[in-house]
Amino acid sequence: MSRIETKLTAAKTIAFTDQVTPDAIPEGHARLRLAVASICGTDLHYFSHFANGIFVLNNPVTLGHEACAYVVDANGSDLKEGQLVALNPIMNCQTCEPCQRGEENLCTSKKFPGSATTVPHLDGFFRETIDHPARCCRPVADDVDPRHLTFAEPMACALHSLNKGGVSAGQKVLVTGCGPMGLLAIAGAAARGAEVTAIDLRPKAVELALRVGATNGLIAGEFEEKDIEGSFDVVVEASGAIPAFNSALKAVRKKGTVSILSNMQMKPAEVLLNLIMLKEIQVVGSFQFNKEFEEAVQLIEEKKIDFDALTAASFPLAETDKALELMASGAAFGKIIILG
Ligand SMILES: [Zn+2]
Ligand SMILES: [Zn+2]
Repeated sequence: MSRIETKLTAAKTIAFTDQVTPDAIPEGHARLRLAVASICGTDLHYFSHFANGIFVLNNPVTLGHEACAYVVDANGSDLKEGQLVALNPIMNCQTCEPCQRGEENLCTSKKFPGSATTVPHLDGFFRETIDHPARCCRPVADDVDPRHLTFAEPMACALHSLNKGGVSAGQKVLVTGCGPMGLLAIAGAAARGAEVTAIDLRPKAVELALRVGATNGLIAGEFEEKDIEGSFDVVVEASGAIPAFNSALKAVRKKGTVSILSNMQMKPAEVLLNLIMLKEIQVVGSFQFNKEFEEAVQLIEEKKIDFDALTAASFPLAETDKALELMASGAAFGKIIILG
């Protein structure tokens, strides 16, 4: 096989094909060769169900929206051949009102790869050759490890939730859920000088949280909720579980903030609304990111975060199916990466 392209053709089915790329590169795009990609919870939803909640795929698609790549053909842009770039997957319109306010995550006509939210679907990054808008490619210095740079997109999501929550140095922050996103929020908050407590059901996940920056680790069900009631300035909800959201409302202090980072699925939920009222809690949502992509790349360049500890396993592109199956099994702690 010369150049590998992966396609999700049905639930739990990845097809590998020889990639055929047109000679002409679309205007404004650069041609890139995949360096490293990583798997997101969203990819996992599509892999397991051929859908992410209410967003159902219409046709086979290449998954992946977290990656970095090498420039093959700059196609008239300022990029340089051979340069390593972080890929910002948000292709915003640059003209709508949210875009003009710098809120490209809320762009009314943005395109996003490997997702049913963009119709017709755009292929994602789990393939060898990628044509991507040059303006969405952020070049980095030669000494940046591509296995770390692939974290730019998920790290940006985590930083956005910290910014929405107003997390700053010296604050007491609780992160509920130590999956990949929770761990990145923990590492990001710790890098900002916050004192971070992590909660998860799985002792191994809590152990990892302590390795990447949490000061305290709690195993759900093994401590008294009363003991941490009203203790935190900010709670970042990263588990997606309704009981964890209610625990967050209890754990946050009066006038504190609960920031929802997790990919909350659409289902009826019993929420302790009285606590939001009584404690004057701010509940904020966090969807994707804006300027945080740049913040994330800089954090990676500064080598402040132990991304190796956050990496559970790595697979070659030709074993993308195995990588997705490992993630679906729930046996991996941290992030799974795919090497181009
Ligand atoms: Zn993602
Ligand atoms: Zn827009």
